[in-house]
Amino acid sequence: MHTAHVAHDTPYYLELEEKFGAHNYHPLPVVLNKGEGVFLWDIEGKRYYDFLSGYSAVNQGHCHPKIIDALIEQATKLTLTSRAFHSDLLGEYEKYITQLFGYDKVLPMNTGVEAVETAIKLTRRWGYAVKGIADGAAKIIVCEGNFHGRTSTVISFSNDESARAMFGPFMPGFVAIPYNDLDALEKALQDENVAGFLVEPIQGEAGVVVPDEGYLSGAFQLCKEANVLFIADEIQTGLARTGKMLACDYEDVHPDILILGKALSGGVLPVSAVLANDEIMLTIKAGEHGSTYGGNPLACKVAIAALEVLQEENMAQNAADLGDYFRKEIKSLNSPFIKIVRGKGLLNAIIIEHSNSEAAWDLCLALKDNGLLAKPTHGDKIRLAPPLVITKEQIDECVEILNESLKVLA
Ligand code: PLP
Repeated sequence: MHTAHVAHDTPYYLELEEKFGAHNYHPLPVVLNKGEGVFLWDIEGKRYYDFLSGYSAVNQGHCHPKIIDALIEQATKLTLTSRAFHSDLLGEYEKYITQLFGYDKVLPMNTGVEAVETAIKLTRRWGYAVKGIADGAAKIIVCEGNFHGRTSTVISFSNDESARAMFGPFMPGFVAIPYNDLDALEKALQDENVAGFLVEPIQGEAGVVVPDEGYLSGAFQLCKEANVLFIADEIQTGLARTGKMLACDYEDVHPDILILGKALSGGVLPVSAVLANDEIMLTIKAGEHGSTYGGNPLACKVAIAALEVLQEENMAQNAADLGDYFRKEIKSLNSPFIKIVRGKGLLNAIIIEHSNSEAAWDLCLALKDNGLLAKPTHGDKIRLAPPLVITKEQIDECVEILNESLKVLA
């Protein structure tokens, strides 16, 4: 029977996912069916501020008209050629993104973790082909508390037990050091088999851990001295989120390998990219790496539009200005339940202090009831990262929603 026109309620959709979907997520009980700018709507028509932004994929705001126009226009012409043939958009996109970020070449992929995998392979290949490390001996230094995705290689160097337990055996070749610790990096770099240092400029999933000023530039310098590649995972921190186009821009660091994803499509399609200069990128030859969808014409068209929108609408500046304001306003609430407010630009987190270990979850439910969607991470942290099109007046309203919602913890 045809059931498309039957209106269902929230429990119906929650049960549908529970019954037919894998249980690898624990979402807030809200069923959404519309988004525009900073707002989302549920199936009952209730409007919410989106303070997750698809984990920072929707920096440009939901359904940005210019990005959606690009999507629709291209979708009616050509969507996929595979890389067996050329398209009239791949080269145009490659030229655009490499010139924008200052690299010789780009390697297009789809999801964030695929781009991380690509960066790992490139680093190893460079280590053997250029640096002269014995085949199979290359190491990559990573940071404790990292989050770079969920494939079996990438979880091999996670120290989050819930991401690793019973998924072994793990991929060797990674050395973990504490984040924000230049002494530990200097020591680890003494090993001549190290090919790269993979780092998030701010650890997003760990709860928006901002390193000390000088950490990124210091780490970059140490890597240069050791002939080791500095690899920045800017999948979450990049593309105007932290108040600059890249979080590395704060310290004038130009990574040897730059990894982008998420907002590269403004939340429209999975589009990721790895950028590097020829010495690194050309170590991978035809047939040695790839992806059916990577660099497809639809993704290219959407990514150009997504990058243009960020610049045309000065989203980095808005994130910088409103981020400072937002943190100041939250601090001025003087809530006994907010232990720490931290972040950069509009990538922020609050850490909840409460005798009830479910307090952050309960606060997110209250925020939802009051019209704001956010999600806890690691129990006591709540990320607050709205689309970058948010205005000062809207921030004021959201701080008021937070203030009101905190009452549930009293
Ligand atoms: N790297 C970082 C820093 C991320 O924050 C994420 C996702 O949250 C990823 C990689 C993985 O991206 P994806 O979920 O698109 O594979």
